[in-house]
Amino acid sequence: MKILVTGGAGFIGSHLCARLLKDGHEVLAIDNFDPYYDVALKERHVAFLAEYSAFALERGDIRDASWLRETVRNFAPDRIVHLAARAGVRPSIESPSEYSDVNVTGSINIFEAARLRNTPVIFASSSSVYGDSTRVPYREDDAASTPVSPYAATKRAGELLAFTYHHLYQLPIICLRFFTVYGPRQRPDMAIHKFAHAILNDDAITLFGDGKTARDYTFVSDIVDGITASIERAPELKFQILNLGGGRVIELRELVCCLEKIIGKPAKINWQSNQPGDVKLTSADISKARELLGYAPRISIEDGLRAAVEWLREEA
Ligand code: NAD
Repeated sequence: MKILVTGGAGFIGSHLCARLLKDGHEVLAIDNFDPYYDVALKERHVAFLAEYSAFALERGDIRDASWLRETVRNFAPDRIVHLAARAGVRPSIESPSEYSDVNVTGSINIFEAARLRNTPVIFASSSSVYGDSTRVPYREDDAASTPVSPYAATKRAGELLAFTYHHLYQLPIICLRFFTVYGPRQRPDMAIHKFAHAILNDDAITLFGDGKTARDYTFVSDIVDGITASIERAPELKFQILNLGGGRVIELRELVCCLEKIIGKPAKINWQSNQPGDVKLTSADISKARELLGYAPRISIEDGLRAAVEWLREEA
């Protein structure tokens, strides 16, 4: 298949492109190399994909609707995987309009371009849409109407627009709610990357709250499994919202203990009060993804953290 991946130079995007190329697909990645984090990291992400003749990269911005339409028209993809976004909860409180421009208007531009040839879209949503939902584990039929950060609100808006495009134009769209994704090449602003990097370098880490906030962490190859299954099944699934979680919830303090064991030294911890926009818990009910996609996360948190730490050691 010909697959267009937006945000292809990012953390999840680069893993997805690698898998698709290994599976024999033709891939066009588009990315604007947003300086939200070190652009050199993104350059390295895509550099190793250049060895595949079936890989191409176009630098461009999904906010530019006419460029996007032309790019989609020329490449004529069989599927679009839409990962490009401003990610990160806390910075979204500082610059909400930028998050809205990229994540909402940018997604409308993708859906508009996709409807040129009725191309099925896989849309990267987020567990953050559940806010501080009290019904645990989180199920897709939750109202998800109380997002607690602008980032979460833009992701929920993307899902609602996805439904609208499906309703109006029968565009097949699968919205995947990723639960905290980690692994090699993880974004440097994310907790596991920051903690492991600090422990390796004998720097202090900052933990917010009482250490009891908990997350359903998902290893990146499991997320890629969920995306590739969605690529296969999108036309028959038509419109769906699906949780992709890791299958086990870990408290913050336990996560740090795991990292201390793997790295072989204790963390220097600086405790601070909870941050606005952060949720206390994320916990995925993955039964719908299991039934519709055959989704079954395979990587344990211990193995996943070991792989993440190994990558950081190689990077050092
Ligand atoms: P990332 O920041 O590494 O990747 C996003 C990519 O999109 C970047 O390479 C960036 O340069 C690109 N991009 C940003 N704005 C763009 C624009 N206007 N035009 C073109 N490209 C643009 O983030 P990631 O962690 O790989 O996340 C990928 C997707 O998954 C995002 O939509 C994110 O919201 C979603 N998600 C991630 C997680 C996670 O834990 N990593 C959890 C839930 C949802």
